[in-house]
Amino acid sequence: MRYIISSALASLLLCAPLAAPARAEVPQVVTDIPPVQSLVAQVMGDLGTPTLLLAKGASEHDFQLRPSQARALADAGFVFWVGPDLTPWLSRALTDLPEAQVLALLDAPETFRRPYSPDGAHLHDPSQGSHDHGNTDPHAWLDPDNAKAWLGLIAARLAELDPDNAATYAANAEAARHAIDALDQQVRSRLDAYRDRPFIVFHDAYGYFASHYGLSILGSVALGDATTPGAAKLAALHQAVGSGPPTCIFPEAQHDPALVAQLAQGTSLRIGPPLDPVGSTGDSGPDAYGTLIGTLADSIATCLSTAANTP
Ligand SMILES: [Zn+2]
Repeated sequence: MRYIISSALASLLLCAPLAAPARAEVPQVVTDIPPVQSLVAQVMGDLGTPTLLLAKGASEHDFQLRPSQARALADAGFVFWVGPDLTPWLSRALTDLPEAQVLALLDAPETFRRPYSPDGAHLHDPSQGSHDHGNTDPHAWLDPDNAKAWLGLIAARLAELDPDNAATYAANAEAARHAIDALDQQVRSRLDAYRDRPFIVFHDAYGYFASHYGLSILGSVALGDATTPGAAKLAALHQAVGSGPPTCIFPEAQHDPALVAQLAQGTSLRIGPPLDPVGSTGDSGPDAYGTLIGTLADSIATCLSTAANTP
């Protein structure tokens, strides 16, 4: 009997160092859209892979969580998302999570915010009445300065949750900021020739990108939340195009190109490659952010260089 007891005691003592002290673990992170997933993935590096909610090919404005995704959210250690202005479909699911486990990047003091583009007098849609131009444009990841600021926020928050790996998160964020700086320089020189070449986009998502690189957007076919425009807006856009120099109109990967084709019909507008402002048609992961920005720049430059050669 004595033997049994001491043996049990011994094994208890042997096990004790394994059971305690409790250490913080790498958190289960959930993200809303590919660019945010990419930035978090870069900060986490080999330590973990954040979950991405937006499905392949889906629009950021119009999506429904699958039951399995809702469960993943309930089990999430932390959620990074842009915020309710971009993805109202995610707002309700997040109300069940404690506030301390969620960071809306658009609301952070470090984030540069801009309003949606004013349509401009020549593109005003009378059917929209007194349209509120004071709304914050939530497509803030398209300004690389915001992406760099977010890397710092992400690293700081992960370090709080998982102090043991704080140095790794900080070093990964620093490396990612350098990578964005290099990309930013390349993109700036690629787009420099098109600063005075206004173009038309499908939805009002590119204000951050355009203002960061000094580009000019003549107008958008659909509204900022990608809802269909009225006939009056289309007519106004059509008229503005007719009086300007030849330029490009860009459809979007997530939306039916019919409206764009309709608008381009009978004009000198060149239809560019479909843009993907949220990167949902590409692969997710650490490289996705750089690919998104680089591809946008390439698509815009390629079409505008061709339109420039049109007499
Ligand atoms: Zn959008």
